[in-house]
Amino acid sequence: MNENQSALIQLVDKIEQLGQFQDKIEFPASVQQIWEAFLNDVRNLIEVEGCALFLVDEVTQEFGLSCVEPPSVRAACQEESDAQIECGIFPWVLKRRQPALIPALGPVRGRTLVMLPLVTVKRTLGMVMVISPLHESLVTQENMRLLAVLAKQCSLVMENALLYEGLKKKNESLEKANKQIRYLAQRDPLTRCFNRGYMNEQLPRDIRRALRYRRALSVALCDLDHFKAINDTQGHQCGDQVLRDFVKTVSALIRTDSDWLARYGGEEFLLVLPETSLENAQRLAERLRQQIARRTFDWHGEQVCITASFGLTGFDGERVTEKIAADALLRCVDENLYRAKKEGRNRVFSGAFAG
Ligand code: GH3
Ligand code: MG
Ligand code: MG
Repeated sequence: MNENQSALIQLVDKIEQLGQFQDKIEFPASVQQIWEAFLNDVRNLIEVEGCALFLVDEVTQEFGLSCVEPPSVRAACQEESDAQIECGIFPWVLKRRQPALIPALGPVRGRTLVMLPLVTVKRTLGMVMVISPLHESLVTQENMRLLAVLAKQCSLVMENALLYEGLKKKNESLEKANKQIRYLAQRDPLTRCFNRGYMNEQLPRDIRRALRYRRALSVALCDLDHFKAINDTQGHQCGDQVLRDFVKTVSALIRTDSDWLARYGGEEFLLVLPETSLENAQRLAERLRQQIARRTFDWHGEQVCITASFGLTGFDGERVTEKIAADALLRCVDENLYRAKKEGRNRVFSGAFAG
């Protein structure tokens, strides 16, 4: 084999090796992982003093310094790229879609820059800038061609990675938005406790669950006493604040992992206490009643206070043999609330659910 033949075989080997760039990357790969593999291959082809990756921002279309090696040349690379962009070199290289040798203009003056455009058929991804101590004339045509092959391979892999990362981000923000929508759909906008829609879905579920596992369930309907008078004397905004404050007070005293509070309407709230016997629910309701009656808050210099009446009922899942409809339970607590109001307000009226 003569010298020419062996040089040719070596060249073919190198091209083959570069063509296998994708195989070295395990998908899904991060930009950093691709960058490291790429840099490794670049170093096999040309002497590298520093190397920087600039990615095009999809929104602003500007080049941003994404990776740099070694980190000590970061500032120099940033300054150098600013100078090159100002001279129109970046767009020129991207338009040619071919690697180019450029003399450094900025802080690494005297060095050669090898510019490798990262482009695919559909997208301009960015630019790699290699700072080489070699004089331009020492960079062979052959190496430039090999770098072109490598840059193309890298562009394909990088495009996939960027698409994947973009999709992942979009997915995450969609999930976040969905979560927010779900949250808002279940909440009362004024007080942030659950709304009636949530109550209509969750109460039958909790009843079924209590019956299936033979557990207790208690519910309380709370109504603020003479609430209209607060609106009439202090104004609606004060009334709104009283409602928010009521929810805050109740929420602080219940078990947030299982108990829940929903705005039934106006100044009426339903408190659902799974796995809670009527006796325990009665104690809790009494504590809530006292806490609410004790609270006063300042409304533009005036002390506002409120009381609440509670209608309470519940059942012991062990003893119930028939299905219980949410409506029947609500009717029962409503009657008990009516009794609490009738007996003078600011009290808890409790009675076991009789079906
Ligand atoms: P009772 O002790 O018998 O329950 O008397 P009450 O005044 O609390 O009851 P009533 O049903 O007469 O009045 C309820 C008032 O609640 C009337 C309504 O304007 C007010 N209200 C309902 N929703 C809101 C709200 O979101 N904000 C404000 N500020 N007031 C509300
Ligand atoms: Mg009321
Ligand atoms: Mg009412």
